Amino acid sequence: MACQAAIFPIVLDNNGIPLYHGRQRRLASRSQRRALKTMYQTCAIPGCTVNSRYCEPHHILYWRNQGNTDLDNLLPLCTRHHHNVHEGGWKLALTTNRTLTITYPDGTTQTTGPPGRRKAAA
Ligand SMILES: [Zn+2]
Ligand SMILES: [Zn+2]
Repeated sequence: MACQAAIFPIVLDNNGIPLYHGRQRRLASRSQRRALKTMYQTCAIPGCTVNSRYCEPHHILYWRNQGNTDLDNLLPLCTRHHHNVHEGGWKLALTTNRTLTITYPDGTTQTTGPPGRRKAAA
């Protein structure tokens, strides 16, 4: 897994919740995890029913490729789909409204709309 490491909380949102860490930290914070769970009931992959509480925050743009630990760059993935992304060649793209496009290794793509979001991250 490519999503692990050290801890330097920094930027606060207007509720005082740190959601944008940029390059300050690599691991999603507790608040970011909570915000993801609020936005997503399940793993972000369409049709997957794994509860988001068992998912891991994934960096859409990989940390090693200068991806930021910002909520906009994080997506909850279950272990299986996390594995598919990191080792199975699935490519993910997320727009600012959280429309997710998945490109599978055979070149086919699937797009899913934003998750039904409760009021969480601004
Ligand atoms: Zn990951
Ligand atoms: Zn999944």
